[in-house]
Amino acid sequence: MTTVGILGGGQLARMLALSGAPLGLRFLVLDTAGDACAGQFAPMVVGDYTDQAALAEFASKVDVATFDFENVPAESAQWLAQRVPVFPSPRALAVAQDRLAEKTLFRELGIPVPQFADVPTREALDAAIAAIGTPCILKTRRLGYDGKGQFRLKSAADADAAWAALGAQAATVGLILEGFVRFERELSVVAVRGRDGEFRAWPLTENWHVDGVLSASLAPAQTDAALADTAHAYARKLAEALDYVGVFALELFCRDGELLANELAPRVHNSGHWTIEGSETSQFQNHLRAVLGLPLGDTRMLGTACMLNWIGQMPGAAPVLAEAGGHWHDYGKSPRAGRKVGHATLRAGSANELAAALARVGQALGRDAQVAPVIERLG
Ligand code: ATP
Ligand code: MG
Ligand code: MG
Repeated sequence: MTTVGILGGGQLARMLALSGAPLGLRFLVLDTAGDACAGQFAPMVVGDYTDQAALAEFASKVDVATFDFENVPAESAQWLAQRVPVFPSPRALAVAQDRLAEKTLFRELGIPVPQFADVPTREALDAAIAAIGTPCILKTRRLGYDGKGQFRLKSAADADAAWAALGAQAATVGLILEGFVRFERELSVVAVRGRDGEFRAWPLTENWHVDGVLSASLAPAQTDAALADTAHAYARKLAEALDYVGVFALELFCRDGELLANELAPRVHNSGHWTIEGSETSQFQNHLRAVLGLPLGDTRMLGTACMLNWIGQMPGAAPVLAEAGGHWHDYGKSPRAGRKVGHATLRAGSANELAAALARVGQALGRDAQVAPVIERLG
């Protein structure tokens, strides 16, 4: 009996556990919150990620460890890695935890990035604004997610407000200034690399965000094949450079037909949730296969798929369940503003059928605005 340990017990851990059940796997989740939603399907150790006793108990009970939460302190990941195999490696995790380190690596690998600069001080912010221009975005280097820890500057006159919002964090998690990219599209590559170096990627996905939080994903992205090939080549180069094991997502902006890398998520990713029903092998299943050294599954698509995120509270399931290709995921969380509580995936045999299903669901749930950009793209 193999036990997979997961650091972090949110919906990603929950979907990993659900996906691993047919493989006969056991799971153990470490989370700071006793009511973490993965705990409904897996035993838990409750404790802080820096708590030696909790880490020691976790390490003693698992055969391999992986992450649902990318901000586990690098030292904790390293401590664990001395006791049990940890995938992805603490080094890959450390790079992906720091926007400055990841963007520097992207650039070294020849992967284009938005303009960026380290901002250790207030003076450095002025210098960075002068160098990069406006509009731009000040972000924390570490610990940001769902658009948190970001401040958008329209002009240099916003520097004081930006510093008031985030300046205190320059000395703790660090700050980075990025040029604001007027992109036509946001895309992501969700890919997996095995312990033996085998690399597979799912078709390129297009993503729409609202207030910095993912709202909808469409796969395959309606782009030309050359763009998808370039995106996949970037993902592969990155995975090889980091000797990455497991699933990851590379978030990309497409501006004037060119790709710019935004960030690397060192884990299964929200923009890959459609793979549960939309692909021969889901990202969750392939992540488990990768970290266990099992053969990777085929990443081909089964039709066209759109994932809709449910933020704050769950809508009624019936309109989605009434669709032939409708699939429902309720993470079992209590409602809270801005919280990811569930998602739906609609799968269809053609773009037209998918657009029609999205229109029906959007109308029935009063979510026309959420489905509109996807329907427009499906044309
Ligand atoms: P995630 O939940 O994806 O981890 P995050 O908090 O790490 O989010 P980012 O991915 O950096 O944050 O930013 C969230 C969203 O804000 C992006 O998906 C994009 O829509 C927008 N955004 C971020 N950086 C830029 C930029 N430089 N130019 C334009 N838009 C941006
Ligand atoms: Mg992020
Ligand atoms: Mg992001």
